[in-house]
Amino acid sequence: MTLDNDFARLSDFEPMKAELTGIRRHLHANPELSFEEAETARFVAEKLEAWGYEVTRNVGGHGVVARMTVGAGKKSIAIRADMDALPISEQTGAAYASKAPGKMHACGHDGHTTILLGAAEYLARTRRFNGTLNLIFQPAEEAGAVSGAPAMIKDGLFERFPFDVIYGLHNHPGAAEGTWLLRSGPLMAAADTVEITIIGKGGHASRPHLTIDPVVVACNLVVSLQTIVARSVDPTQTAVVTVGAIHAGEVSNVIPESAKMLLTVRSFDPKVRELLEARIRKLTASIAEGYGASVEIDYVYGHPVVVNSEKETEFARMIAEELVGAEKVTTCGLIPGSEDFSHYLEHKPGSFLRLGNGVNSAILHSAKYDFADESLTVGAAMWARLTERYLDA
Ligand SMILES: [Zn+2]
Ligand SMILES: [Zn+2]
Repeated sequence: MTLDNDFARLSDFEPMKAELTGIRRHLHANPELSFEEAETARFVAEKLEAWGYEVTRNVGGHGVVARMTVGAGKKSIAIRADMDALPISEQTGAAYASKAPGKMHACGHDGHTTILLGAAEYLARTRRFNGTLNLIFQPAEEAGAVSGAPAMIKDGLFERFPFDVIYGLHNHPGAAEGTWLLRSGPLMAAADTVEITIIGKGGHASRPHLTIDPVVVACNLVVSLQTIVARSVDPTQTAVVTVGAIHAGEVSNVIPESAKMLLTVRSFDPKVRELLEARIRKLTASIAEGYGASVEIDYVYGHPVVVNSEKETEFARMIAEELVGAEKVTTCGLIPGSEDFSHYLEHKPGSFLRLGNGVNSAILHSAKYDFADESLTVGAAMWARLTERYLDA
């Protein structure tokens, strides 16, 4: 058992503030889009190698995994940071603003990467843990349904770098710098999209009895789909079904052959997610059948719900309270955005934490957004102490 004095504290990271701010601003000035993170990955890998990690490059694309074992402990922890930027033209006016036209770190992944590097440097220097540490620098978080986390898993992440638990963080505009927002259970939404094609029978607008009008079917379906959340989902749960587009027909005197509808479906519970799909499929098929039309449904699963396991979340809450004090650690509300960290949590226990980015911070994905450098040392101290406490003798 290590004495409490030996675990990482916030004050241990004060001397690293200038270095971490420099790294963050370097990454900010040189953003790379999803699947293009070659330079960021090289920058990260070279530092990790210099600090003595066993570094594996090109895991699931430009992913980098750094591994270090200290002592004979059998436990293994993973911590993940994302590295990619967005196709946005920066408007912060910062001295270290993006040098790449039309590309910007507008989600703070420059900060997440820097935080994990800060912890990596500290842990390699102090080596006060007993077991195996895995640092996952993930590409392409912003890439939509086919993103970096499933790509790294498909490339053998769990088999090549075995670990017991996984942690990750995202900065949180609207909460004060250096504060933590945690939640066990569902945290962020599953985001699915559905393309429905209703195939009727086209004809002259003056002779509707000789046609099967897909426009009428589509209109009935829109109304019926709105009953799913109101009448089928448990009122203590929450969900969204939005018909974002309907396309059918060109002119007033022709009944078209088909109609196309595009839906966004969001949920915070895997069972609700299944229910939504089942209801959408059933209503679509039965309404179309009632009118003699046929349907094609392309139901595309986006990222799953981010579900934090209770034990690992409470462990992180304890560490956060030790580091910054209980008054700076609160329970996070549900977040309707989605995040591909959820793919790891489908296989491993763990927790996705939110770190305050300032009450006046611009929102994520805004051209005026910037990561709050004041949060860098708090984040790095968190990962360091969490690792030391989890991999304690
Ligand atoms: Zn984002
Ligand atoms: Zn993000």
